[in-house]
Amino acid sequence: MALKTASEYLDSLRRLNMTVYMFGEKIDNFVDHPIIRPSINSVAKSYELALDERYSDLMTAESSITGETVNRFCHLHQSTGDLVRKVKMQRLMGQKTAACFQRCVGMDAINAIDSVTFEMDRKLGTEYHRRFRSYVKYIQENDLVVDGAMTDPKGDRSLRPSQQADPDLYLRVVRENSDGIVVRGAKAHQTGAINSHEICVMPTMAMTGEDRDYAVSFALPSDAPGIIYIYGRQSCDTRKLEGTGIDVGNARYGGQEALVIFEDVFVPWERVFMCREYEFSGALVERFAGYHRQSYGGCKVGVGDVLIGAAAVMADFNGTAKASHVKDKIIEMIHLNETLYSCGIACSSQGFPTPSGTYLIDLLLANVCKQNVTRYPYEIARLAEDIAGGLMVTMPSEKDLRHPQIGPYIEKYLKGVASVPTEHRMRMLRLVENLTLGCAAVGYRTESMHGAGSPQAQRVMISRQANLEHKKKLARVIAGIDPED
Ligand code: SF4
Ligand code: FE
Repeated sequence: MALKTASEYLDSLRRLNMTVYMFGEKIDNFVDHPIIRPSINSVAKSYELALDERYSDLMTAESSITGETVNRFCHLHQSTGDLVRKVKMQRLMGQKTAACFQRCVGMDAINAIDSVTFEMDRKLGTEYHRRFRSYVKYIQENDLVVDGAMTDPKGDRSLRPSQQADPDLYLRVVRENSDGIVVRGAKAHQTGAINSHEICVMPTMAMTGEDRDYAVSFALPSDAPGIIYIYGRQSCDTRKLEGTGIDVGNARYGGQEALVIFEDVFVPWERVFMCREYEFSGALVERFAGYHRQSYGGCKVGVGDVLIGAAAVMADFNGTAKASHVKDKIIEMIHLNETLYSCGIACSSQGFPTPSGTYLIDLLLANVCKQNVTRYPYEIARLAEDIAGGLMVTMPSEKDLRHPQIGPYIEKYLKGVASVPTEHRMRMLRLVENLTLGCAAVGYRTESMHGAGSPQAQRVMISRQANLEHKKKLARVIAGIDPED
């Protein structure tokens, strides 16, 4: 069985020789860094739960390549059932971590590249799909974490890649020889980059003939020479350096984003999956984005479950749980959260097989799913803040609570319902703060807006997929303008 334990995963990260910077310093031991470690714990949870028989149906799958049991994050979806289980797995992971658990980007990348390389080979006579399948076999057999890297810095948005003042603002092929290619550029806000074994790069948008050097997809070990990682800041990140538990809100888990630089990096041909076939870059982007928009119908819902739970506990701790408006707000949060989930399940159950055999989601419904995610978590967060109360953002620190002189004042004056310890109330307030304004808010709020593409990107896809002409025809028939078919 190709499943690693969580501690084997941690050990495997320690063997990586990655170039990581944070706060202007090179970080040698990123695995034990207090700011980075919570994000690694989130990924480690995907290993832990896969070996827990209560969750094995969601967390593992039978590999279509080897027939072995593999972690679902390394699996190529073989049915609509697989697509549905993917979303359920992500909801579970969100519930267990209350953070972005990062491993989805690799899963979404391999599924998108699988079908696109198959179709490229069929049309162009290339051999990308064979290479790619042997790569997927490698990551399945070794239970690896893959960072799916799509988003380029993009410079001036009004200009195409080849028109930029600096040609490196989109990642591109700068040289090639009989051994492979050399690439230069960067990938921005890369989720989970600094706890992945591999980085799998895709183009950031549909390319034209002039931009053919930018139509490139490949995979490399994350510590390949020339790759530099610069850790992204998160709100309240330095609280993790204070050595206390309450003030971080979520002491164990977190997410992670990084700016990844490719400084003339060599890629052997065996790991190149697209090189200048620009006419297929649009399909790759569309499918990766589609899968990741489906993903949000699971992960954000799981985190939402924790936030709804935290709001309800706060109502208990504040003594407001019986107020009808509070009850109604919690019902509203549940309704919004389950609406997000409904779209994640719907786009999965309406999936279909691509020519490679790998299943794709219904792209219209996946884009509607993500469009909802750009809105509802904000409303859920607003209602959670309403129920929690303003103390969430004015409360003194854990060190004050522990202080021999002033601690008793905190105990006394921050008390809610008499039977609830003040520390519990403080913990729950910090959790709500973490999810709505702190480190986890990267994943729950701003990432809900911009992750997997900003809202307008979904609206473009919705208009492309919606078949408005068909709807007009329906209206014309019912209105008696056109005859019925
Ligand atoms: Fe996974 Fe959600 Fe994080 Fe994307 S935002 S990597 S889907 S947990
Ligand atoms: Fe994301």
